[in-house]
Amino acid sequence: MKNSAANIPVVIVGGGPVGLFLAIALLKNGIDCKVIEKRKEPVADSRSLGIHPVSLELFDELGITTPFLEEGLKIKRGIALTATKKLGEIHFSDCPKPHDYILACPQSTTERILRDELRKLNKDALITKAEFIRFEESENSVTTYFSRGQETQQISSQFLIGCDGKNSQVRQASSIHFSGKRYPDTYIMGDFTDTTDFGADAAVFLPKDGLIECFPLPNGMRRWVVKTRDYISDPVDEILASFVKQRIGHDISGTKSTMLSSFGVQHFVAESFAKGRVLLAGDAAHVVSPIGGQGMNLGWLGAWKMAKQLSSARHPDPESLLAYSDQHKKIAAKVARRAEVNMRLGRASAVPMFKDWMIKGILHSPLKQNVAQLFTMRGLNDWWL
Ligand SMILES: Cc1cc2nc3c(=O)[nH]c(=O)nc-3n(C[C@H](O)[C@H](O)[C@H](O)COP(=O)(O)OP(=O)(O)OC[C@H]3O[C@@H](n4cnc5c(N)ncnc54)[C@H](O)[C@@H]3O)c2cc1C
Repeated sequence: MKNSAANIPVVIVGGGPVGLFLAIALLKNGIDCKVIEKRKEPVADSRSLGIHPVSLELFDELGITTPFLEEGLKIKRGIALTATKKLGEIHFSDCPKPHDYILACPQSTTERILRDELRKLNKDALITKAEFIRFEESENSVTTYFSRGQETQQISSQFLIGCDGKNSQVRQASSIHFSGKRYPDTYIMGDFTDTTDFGADAAVFLPKDGLIECFPLPNGMRRWVVKTRDYISDPVDEILASFVKQRIGHDISGTKSTMLSSFGVQHFVAESFAKGRVLLAGDAAHVVSPIGGQGMNLGWLGAWKMAKQLSSARHPDPESLLAYSDQHKKIAAKVARRAEVNMRLGRASAVPMFKDWMIKGILHSPLKQNVAQLFTMRGLNDWWL
């Protein structure tokens, strides 16, 4: 067995968007760390795309915003419609500057930029093709075992942080309970060449048969998300195109998708985000509905607080991390509630006229500003929702 490094402060399992961001935040705060990631390359497809202003403010503090602005696309306005009629709009440009927009950036690009930024800080921090096996915890340290090819290696550290996604092996190995539920809601999603006139605007259609959202992507593409009655196990372009045509009359049938998938919606949360010397962040700690697009951003908020907590104490002790866990659990619960409201609004309605009337009323009242806050993840420390 090979001993990769001894007694560094932190080992992170999982170099997805949250693990990479956390590693950058730790290194910038003077805390050495290693990231163990099983994939050689970043994810290939676009997946999560919305980077919210609260995250961009954290990027500013870390000095990593510029490459995101170079590759992303600024969404400054969201329009709500029935099948064809406009109900109202929200302007993110009314939100605090400088980030008065949501940045659309495919997850493949996000992960590539974060990998580059991490390597600039420490070229050896990311260990790829390395798969977590198990850990052993003692009073003052944790030893993490991982495989790399045929070899098993080990690293000891003061803390082990699981950023290894919703099926987290780290969470399972620490016997932290993960509870929640699956919703009946199902969707089909795809990225197509943009054939709409929406430009850099996002559009949310609320026809009577169920939600259709479309978001601009860089390079002339547009993400379509369509609520379906049942889970479609073999999604193809034609199915998505026919829903769009049928519900809102827009034809995307001539264009080909670069990404297509079906997904169901879940909400799960770990009973604690800290247990002894093991911590959890990102989807390993909490999974929220992708409708509203806030899961990755929530992961970054938690990772940021965790990095601050670890760097504020000269010798951080497991007890002090329980406070972090309690605080971030409250924020995660709030984000999950917001995502649920979004999702319910998109369900087929028995009285669509009432829903349209209500949405129109809100989007033409001062409450419109609260809706913009909701969509841009502001006010998470406020009392409302
Ligand atoms: C359809 C869809 C759209 C979404 N859109 C948005 C959006 O617009 N905005 C938003 O904020 N969120 C969005 N989300 C949610 C977002 O994708 C997740 O919250 C985010 O990917 C979580 O990041 P993570 O780093 O915690 O986990 P992951 O992205 O799951 O990354 C985990 C990493 O750990 C690695 N790993 C796993 N197991 C091991 C192991 N044993 N050893 C080593 N490495 C391991 C994996 O290879 C991976 O790189 C969306 C989700 C879906 C499903």
